[in-house]
Amino acid sequence: MRTKHFAIVLGFVALAAVTGAAQRGGRGNAPAVQTGPTLPGPPRVEALKRDVMADVDSMKVMTQQMVDQVFSFAEPGFQELETSKYLADILEKNGFKIERGYAGIPTAWTATFGTGKPVIAIGSDIDDIPQASQKPGVAYHDPIVEGAPGHGEGHNTGVPLNITAALAVKKIMEREHLQGTLKLWPGVAEELVGAKAYFIRAGMLRDVDVSLFAHVGNNLGASWGGGFGTGLVSVEYTFKGESAHAAAQPWRGRSALDAVELMDVGWNFRREHLRLQQRSHNVITNGGDQPNVVPPTASVWYYFRETDYPHIKELREIGDRMAQAAAMMTDTQVTSRLLGSAWPQHMNKTLAETMYANILTVGLPTWDEADTALAKGIQRELKQPQIGLATELSRLRGGLDPEQNMGGPSDDIGDISWNVPTVTLQYPSNIPNLPGHNWANAIASATPIAHKGATAGAKVQAMTIIDMLMRPELVQAAWDYFRNVQAKDQKYVPFITDKDQPALTLNERMMEKYRPEMKKFYYDPTKYKTYLEQLGIKYPTVR
Ligand SMILES: [Zn+2]
Repeated sequence: MRTKHFAIVLGFVALAAVTGAAQRGGRGNAPAVQTGPTLPGPPRVEALKRDVMADVDSMKVMTQQMVDQVFSFAEPGFQELETSKYLADILEKNGFKIERGYAGIPTAWTATFGTGKPVIAIGSDIDDIPQASQKPGVAYHDPIVEGAPGHGEGHNTGVPLNITAALAVKKIMEREHLQGTLKLWPGVAEELVGAKAYFIRAGMLRDVDVSLFAHVGNNLGASWGGGFGTGLVSVEYTFKGESAHAAAQPWRGRSALDAVELMDVGWNFRREHLRLQQRSHNVITNGGDQPNVVPPTASVWYYFRETDYPHIKELREIGDRMAQAAAMMTDTQVTSRLLGSAWPQHMNKTLAETMYANILTVGLPTWDEADTALAKGIQRELKQPQIGLATELSRLRGGLDPEQNMGGPSDDIGDISWNVPTVTLQYPSNIPNLPGHNWANAIASATPIAHKGATAGAKVQAMTIIDMLMRPELVQAAWDYFRNVQAKDQKYVPFITDKDQPALTLNERMMEKYRPEMKKFYYDPTKYKTYLEQLGIKYPTVR
């Protein structure tokens, strides 16, 4: 669910100073807001930022190994067992205190270092996409394990980026005796929007001052405000009927599958009369066993997406009614279960401006001919404009008018963003013009494109952490925006209730089937410099 920003670039005004005053954000028909990168800090801060930049560069090989290792594990939501353990172990070995199994989720953890304020939460997602297995560096469909999941979005790069940044900052904190706490966490099951609301319920953000998130993209960027993408609830409806011999005595049966199909037909008629902003989609997760047995149980799983909390709630209520109606039509019973949820995102203005100043310092990676050839190769393969890789920084965006938001994807970082000031760093580890949630989005994810993008991102992240540790006025300004602009008229109400529990068994059977074969392709950095080398792939392999 990548963060895709529908960019209307508003006033990009050089060096608007950050003040403690409330600033006008993107609510209602607010006028275009002046925005620009935060002014540089005192010389000592800027000097330490140069130090962490250099240190991140010196950790290039380690970053590459982490990116490749997680790519090779290729685990989908809630099954990130190897990934989670591998990343937590690295942090533990480097002196972070780990709390495993966070919020009752086996693959979740928090890793903390330091003491006192400010507490800086640093997160990124770790899960991947069903059926997206793909050899990296190859510009056409060529799975590593046919049918298996793969990093067809690029979530393998985010936590490695954060770890590199955190290790660089930790060294500075020790050397300079800086106060503050780093709190790293993995975005478990983001593709299912399955975990972050539970992290909040468990209190992960209770002591947090600011939250820095990282998500893969194809440029280096940051944005603030709402007015882009959607939030959602993910609901599975299970119908119960009565089985019977489908030929001998079909009149004795009550088909749960009939109810599923009628609900879907009903929803698709209703679709015409829903707001244009909505996105809704479904899969049938249980359609019965075999045709001669009237299906006694059947299930259908919906994502209901809308642009704000009230509309998401309303869309779900329509879905619930549709399910009840289908149950009545078929004399079956229906129950439902919330499998995930996400609030629409709202990013913090001060944090975005501060991050953007660091983005301007770091700049885009230098792509070589091989990188560009891979990018153009896959763009050609998919009949897209052959623009190669990003060569111009994206602009600082913000203050979009929510009325103009026509929907799009979601990320449960939205929930976090409504609890503490949050910003998402977009970093250039992928190729433009790809479909998303597809094998094509995996081809760059364990290549020099991903490695260089993660190193550039880690520099920005590390520098922004230094800003937060050493410039309390920025933390204060972030909270002023959060309290007086963002959350002025809208407070966070979780979609999950006290009774809801994380859907831990999702993807379990998929991994029972594929893990034995996938294990044969785990990356071994003791034998191979890169995963490309281990797989024997010539970079790039282009048709
Ligand atoms: Zn994502």
